[in-house]
Amino acid sequence: MRLVTLFLTSLILAGCGGATCVDEEVGQCAAESYAWNAMGEKPGTEPSVEWREMACPDHPEIMRNAVVVNGVCYAGLFYPDQWHILVAYTPGLKMSQVALVHELMHAHMANLGLSDPNHQMTQYWQQVDVINMQLSGMGL
Ligand SMILES: [Zn+2]
Repeated sequence: MRLVTLFLTSLILAGCGGATCVDEEVGQCAAESYAWNAMGEKPGTEPSVEWREMACPDHPEIMRNAVVVNGVCYAGLFYPDQWHILVAYTPGLKMSQVALVHELMHAHMANLGLSDPNHQMTQYWQQVDVINMQLSGMGL
C-alpha cells in the first residue's frame, strides 16, 4: 500500500503544472508524465509547458497550428534559460502527434548536460519516436 502511495505521489509531482494544461481531455498531464519518466533517471525538474495555437503566416496552406516567433513557424521550442517549452497544438491532434515529447527530450538532454539543436544524436531522437508510439498505443 505504501508503494502505491509513493508511486502516485511521484506521478503527480512529475506531472504537468496544471495552469498551463492545454486541455485535460487530450491527456496532456498523462502524456507528459509518461514521456518524462520514460526518458530515464535525471537530475532536475520537468520544464513548464505552454501551448500555442497560431496560424503560420507565411504558409496558410499548412493546416496545423504553429508556434510563431518573429514570423517563423515552429512545431515547438525549448527555452533552457527559462526552463520552458512552447508547443504548437491543433485541436483534434493527440499528444503523440505534436512536438511535446520532442521538446521534452531537449529538456531531458539539457538535464544531462547535452545540447543537440540540430538533432544529431540519433539515439535520443529515436527514443522520441518510440515514446510517441507508446503514447499512441495508450490512446494519447
Ligand atoms: Zn528539436
